[in-house]
Amino acid sequence: MLYIGSHVGFRKDSQLLGSLDEALGYGANTFMFYTGAPQNTARGDIDDNLTLKAIDKMKENDIDFSKVIVHAPYIINLCNEEKFDFSVSFLTEEVRRVQKLGVKYLVLHPGSHVGLGIDKGIENIIEGLKIVFSNVGDVDVTILLETMAGKGSEVGSKLEEIKRILDGVNNSHLGVCIDTCHLNDSGYDLVDFNMFLDEFDKIIGIDKIGCVHVNDSKNDRGSHKDRHENIGFGHIGFDTLLGVIYNERLESVPKILETPYVDREYPPYKYEIEMIRSKEFDEKLIDKIKNS
Ligand code: FE
Ligand code: FE
Ligand code: ZN
Repeated sequence: MLYIGSHVGFRKDSQLLGSLDEALGYGANTFMFYTGAPQNTARGDIDDNLTLKAIDKMKENDIDFSKVIVHAPYIINLCNEEKFDFSVSFLTEEVRRVQKLGVKYLVLHPGSHVGLGIDKGIENIIEGLKIVFSNVGDVDVTILLETMAGKGSEVGSKLEEIKRILDGVNNSHLGVCIDTCHLNDSGYDLVDFNMFLDEFDKIIGIDKIGCVHVNDSKNDRGSHKDRHENIGFGHIGFDTLLGVIYNERLESVPKILETPYVDREYPPYKYEIEMIRSKEFDEKLIDKIKNS
């Protein structure tokens, strides 16, 4: 079975229930959200009443809650030593929030070393994650480190870097989220996706993959840019992305779209999900979304 959805909003007044409604409107059977704005760390309390209503509604709609994902805000940076204590305490609280919501997976960008160098950067990430795991104790939340494009001084654009963090932390509640745009931009070729998975399996182990971000890329392979494009309209292309989405080795892993709104106004997800389900590229999709 295909688990496909997109990034959706999370509002103070509707919380998980509102996120679910947005996802259902897109014809999705899973979704990902930030517990507040992605670019800041202002976070409100979780309302259990809304969570319970959402869980009931998921059951009515055959949504498997264990496939739902939270993304941590991207300003957390465990590499940065001035922000280290803040990042650790925010991430600790975020894991607790995610646990309270009943969500199992939290996607995290490893961080940017901003001049410290890759080795020191990785060292700080390992230390930070160890503290977070010891702070939260025995929770049922897995942190998924996202593979990055290698923009600026981002850590985690190479599988070997992710592997070093996994080994250093050595906790079964740590896994990986692969992002197709980021993999492309960091230089990985996804045309033969089974070949990529073989390499991933050799270095890290496929069983560590808890989420796939499915995005096309505005840039060439190896560009280190990280600019997402709508499905089939970028440099990765529709057929290659279908090869990722429908690969049977990742069948149980949720696929999440983070493609851009058309003209910054129209969410593309309903149309992209339809097109993915039909397995047929629609070159007029963007016009269709604009006229919707
Ligand atoms: Fe991300
Ligand atoms: Fe992503
Ligand atoms: Zn990205």
